[in-house]
Amino acid sequence: MIKFLDLEKINNRFRDEIDLRIKTILDKGWYLQGEENESFTKNFAQYCGTKHCIGVANGLDALNLIIKAFGFGDGDEIIVPANTYIATILAISQNGCTPILVEPDINTYNINPDLIEEKITEKTKAIMVVHLYGQAVQMEKIWELAKKYDLKVIEDSAQAHGTVYNGKRAGNLSDASAFSFYPGKNLGCLGDGGAVTTNDDNLAAKIKAIANYGSDRKYHHIYKGVNSRLDEIQAAVLDVKLKYLDQDNEKRRKIAKYYRENIKNENIILPATYNETSHVWHVFVVRTNERDRFQRYLQNNDIQTIIHYPTPPHKQGAYSEWNDLSLPITEEIHKTIISIPISPVMTEKEIQRIMEVINEYV
Ligand SMILES: *Cc1c(COP(=O)(O)O)cnc(C)c1O
Repeated sequence: MIKFLDLEKINNRFRDEIDLRIKTILDKGWYLQGEENESFTKNFAQYCGTKHCIGVANGLDALNLIIKAFGFGDGDEIIVPANTYIATILAISQNGCTPILVEPDINTYNINPDLIEEKITEKTKAIMVVHLYGQAVQMEKIWELAKKYDLKVIEDSAQAHGTVYNGKRAGNLSDASAFSFYPGKNLGCLGDGGAVTTNDDNLAAKIKAIANYGSDRKYHHIYKGVNSRLDEIQAAVLDVKLKYLDQDNEKRRKIAKYYRENIKNENIILPATYNETSHVWHVFVVRTNERDRFQRYLQNNDIQTIIHYPTPPHKQGAYSEWNDLSLPITEEIHKTIISIPISPVMTEKEIQRIMEVINEYV
């Protein structure tokens, strides 16, 4: 069986380095807010090109903390793509704000910038973009609208560690960006982890405090905060893996290039990109009309696939108030997409076999 993602193989490449760092933590007996966190957040800020990085407990918290720190709440509207992982939208509603769903571009799967302006009202506070599947949103139009209507721009970069757009990395394309280090992400830890990156000094200090019980120094609480911290073990693992992120992304790009040049089947629509560096291929998503039959066919040929995602947020039970909403492009995407294996530890033989099996599909 060709696994969709072999996490054991991915992490075991760094086993010696990780073992050593964890041993150091055990020897020191310091588990939170220590040197590992300091080292990783400094290195990740530098990697993204931002002034600040704050380690938090997960990607959803990172999004939540950004919205809280901007002070958005009841009655405020935040524009967000309808085609995203539900976390992006949950972060908005958990703060009492109203998510305003915008349809994606059918080719890039990212928010369609041309459909945003018509959704802006006097209640709109921010545009939250998602660099879905690892491909940067084309930001120019978003920045223009933000300037024109005085809105904040927030990035959900949970699938886009290392993506470059116009010479800048994801995480440095907005007022504040959220990252997830969930194990399966391009930069993943051994459990849950997340971060916020920003160039805004005040926002950074506020997020850091809110994430630590609203405290700017020990037992001094200036906000009604939460507990959302990146622990020392996860920070150490991420600090090790960050050194290999570019190399891993380059491997993903090579596989994507191979698939795009060699998969030739009229039943399969390959993903579109507008620029090689703007994509880090968190997943390789193809579209096909009889998606479930195609998935079974691959399964029968020992190729594991996943669907990102089978049901759009507005059709989920959690958002029953939206279930009658019609978002045809989002729905079409969710009905026809399927992600085939792409990862930095795949062998040439596996990649070639996947190509051959797909080309033989009728
Ligand atoms: C993974 C992911 C999140 C949530 O991250 P967690 O660390 O699992 O909370 C948010 N948005 C997107 C687009 C994601 O892919």
